[in-house]
Amino acid sequence: MNPTIQNIKVICTAPEGINLVVVKVETSEPGLYGLGCATFAYRHLTVKHLIETYLTPLLLGREVRNITELWNLMHQNAYWRTGPIVNNAISGIDMALWDIKGKMAGMPVYDLLGGKVRAGVPVYRHVDGRDVEEICDNIEKFREIGLRYLRCQMGGYGGDGYGEAPSWAAKGSLPGVYLDSDAYMRNTLHLFEQIRIREGEEIKLVHDVHERIHPTEAVTFVKDMEPYHLFFLEDVVPMEHLDWLERIRQVSSTPLSQGELFNNPAEYKRCVQNRLFDYMRVHLSQVGGITPARKLQLFCQEYGVRTCWHGPGDMSPVAHAANIHLDLASENLGLQEWSGIEPPNFVIQKLNGIHGALLEVFSGLPEYGNDGFVYANDKPGLGVDIDEKKAAAYPCTAEVTTWTQTRNPDGFLQRP
Ligand code: MG
Repeated sequence: MNPTIQNIKVICTAPEGINLVVVKVETSEPGLYGLGCATFAYRHLTVKHLIETYLTPLLLGREVRNITELWNLMHQNAYWRTGPIVNNAISGIDMALWDIKGKMAGMPVYDLLGGKVRAGVPVYRHVDGRDVEEICDNIEKFREIGLRYLRCQMGGYGGDGYGEAPSWAAKGSLPGVYLDSDAYMRNTLHLFEQIRIREGEEIKLVHDVHERIHPTEAVTFVKDMEPYHLFFLEDVVPMEHLDWLERIRQVSSTPLSQGELFNNPAEYKRCVQNRLFDYMRVHLSQVGGITPARKLQLFCQEYGVRTCWHGPGDMSPVAHAANIHLDLASENLGLQEWSGIEPPNFVIQKLNGIHGALLEVFSGLPEYGNDGFVYANDKPGLGVDIDEKKAAAYPCTAEVTTWTQTRNPDGFLQRP
């Protein structure tokens, strides 16, 4: 059996109001197909257009088994390469090819990667709230269902929602998500102090700065967070200022994570070699799928850097499955971000307001075991399937993105 690519479908669906892009690669073998995630939620039509107009004609008739050859073919075909649009498009095909290869072999993808090195994948969930009380209440609810790692944020990433400039902003400032970095840092230090007093030392804590302070502020903030013994502190500087991590490392022992915005090895190679952070947080579809992520994971392993792949709500269950399969086969897994995709009526859904629509459209998802760990199913490939008719009932929309319009008190547009 040597199947070739016969057809490529781009399925856009938004079961929970978040645009998801799933690629279905159909082969010359009847019934043999694979699914991949090409989700770039804020530019979904551009990714769809690229796959349909440029990648499909390039790939039709080619042998599905040559994943590395096809990845390189897609990567360099337009001469100018890398970036979120093209990488997400490539990822959709790449994951689908791994899914197909697993089905051909009769093995889950983690077996193709060398087999399981662990039984379950330790995950963290997001705890948010308006104040210390609400956040501690939510921490306790998560602990009751076995979570050992929690990311705690007060009011999202420390700013208000999108709207008119607040009274404390400079006169004439434009609408945005307003952030006062002094207040954010002060409130966050208070929050973690209180969490440790109320919840003890056993729970492992994560916090995401989301690049929302200046590198100069990051130097002192990372140091000030030391007493709360974080598992890691994420994105303390924007990727344009990664060099500042050298200085931050000199003054603080707080573990750091970085990487959801990385596009290509040129951006992260030196960071790994110099161990500028402890956890690599790449978004699998953003770097081009399982093929480059596996290379990156093995590269990190050689330098003692662990992985914690990005696992937010704005990626499809196919990508969540890809994360879990890689995690199961990775010696240097640190932790996995998990967005709480669980069977209907599972208690935790109520905390995040996640309803069952995602599970109407997708089946075969990895599942949370009520014990702090996520488990993959043992089906061949990635194990996830899609109901195309149900997917069509949840159309995507193209709207102007507002949450990225983060602003400082003087009205300056801050990195989101
Ligand atoms: Mg993040």
